[in-house]
Amino acid sequence: MEPYEGIDFYEIDALLSPEERMIRDTVRRWVERRVVPEIGSWTEQATFPRHLVSEMGDLGILGPNIPGEGSPELGAVGYGLIQQELERGDSGLRSFASVQGSLVMHPIHTYGSDEQKRRWLPLLRSGAAIGCYGLTEPDAGSNPGAMRTVARRDGDGWVLNGAKMWITNGSIADVAVVFAKADETIRGFLVEAGTPGYSTVETKHKWSLRASVTSELLFEDCRIPAGAALPGALGLKTALDCLTQARYGIAWGAVGAAGACYHEALRHAKTRVQFDGPIAGHQLVQRKLVEMVSEITKGQLLAYRLGRLKEEGKAKFYHVSLAKRDNVRMALQVARDARDLLGASGITLEHASGRHMANLESVHTYEGTHDIHTLIIGSVLTGIEAYR
Ligand SMILES: Cc1cc2nc3c(=O)[nH]c(=O)nc-3n(C[C@H](O)[C@H](O)[C@H](O)COP(=O)(O)OP(=O)(O)OC[C@H]3O[C@@H](n4cnc5c(N)ncnc54)[C@H](O)[C@@H]3O)c2cc1C
Repeated sequence: MEPYEGIDFYEIDALLSPEERMIRDTVRRWVERRVVPEIGSWTEQATFPRHLVSEMGDLGILGPNIPGEGSPELGAVGYGLIQQELERGDSGLRSFASVQGSLVMHPIHTYGSDEQKRRWLPLLRSGAAIGCYGLTEPDAGSNPGAMRTVARRDGDGWVLNGAKMWITNGSIADVAVVFAKADETIRGFLVEAGTPGYSTVETKHKWSLRASVTSELLFEDCRIPAGAALPGALGLKTALDCLTQARYGIAWGAVGAAGACYHEALRHAKTRVQFDGPIAGHQLVQRKLVEMVSEITKGQLLAYRLGRLKEEGKAKFYHVSLAKRDNVRMALQVARDARDLLGASGITLEHASGRHMANLESVHTYEGTHDIHTLIIGSVLTGIEAYR
């Protein structure tokens, strides 16, 4: 099979620096070699490829945009290209990297104490430690401000009570970034695995993101020291700031998943013969392929422009919402059309499109659902919030 070359219908490659292309190609080859051959069976067995975490650390792709010792300190576009290539392999792998970098290393770097940064960032960057991010609760999803988890001051520490749900990496994490109501605001804490009163339960029977760990986090009179509070993580806006970083990566990742589906559909359409010729020779099939490339190209331009805006310090949360919302919508449609072109064979795990389609249903929902991003952008356009 010919190697994956991505899609470059509009010569967007020419807008990338040689370093950015090199990073993208390195991760592309790694995904081709280490992920693509096995991801179908990991999905079938609902197994997260934990052995790849240290390889990702060695490649320097965990939190590569977060400053610190050993960091390549990539710009936003370089970082985005990595997410694109990881999600071309599987959304679960990109979810792992998004959580580790944007939802754990970013808050520790931005809101943590020097001691917290010294302790955790090198471990997380190398993959020696895994992190998770606990914001969502059973009764607080789209409206995280309604959370019930509380942190009560107790002597020189805190006592946590409550539950978090749908937490990526939860059961395999060495450290959890946890948001809780405390002192009449919301604060972020670091909770280490093994702390008495802290336990996790893995969520089984998923048909989406099966090669990714999703868990509940339970806190029952869980006592953590004063030094566990992230000193700068005060207020819901700090939790939302982390989400903005992760959503940015999703905008790129979705392009990668869509690219994988398009390539699979194109290859199939050129070789599958029905009515005496390859199905790629039928007008309706060509229309589907053209729609895919057209939508993917627009998605690439959105992600690229957003990346450059971010590098210039001009990207706002609503720019990120627009790209997350539209690129995931686009990728989901591309995955569905690719599955359609694969016919019956598209429902097996031998092909990637059905797996990407199922994964993208989660991506459509997490990090702010499609409709919540509609309301975020709508409130910016109109000046009127329509959440309630
Ligand atoms: C695989 C997976 C991994 C995840 N990983 C994490 C993680 O690592 N950390 C974490 O904290 N969370 C995580 N989540 C949780 C995710 O962010 C939430 O599922 C998401 O925010 C939606 O919340 P909910 O599921 O409670 O849905 P709800 O908020 O109950 O929404 C249900 C439906 O109602 C709609 N809706 C809600 N409010 C409105 C409104 N005002 N107007 C119109 N429509 C509305 C939504 O758009 C949606 O269609 C993960 C979820 C999944 C599926």
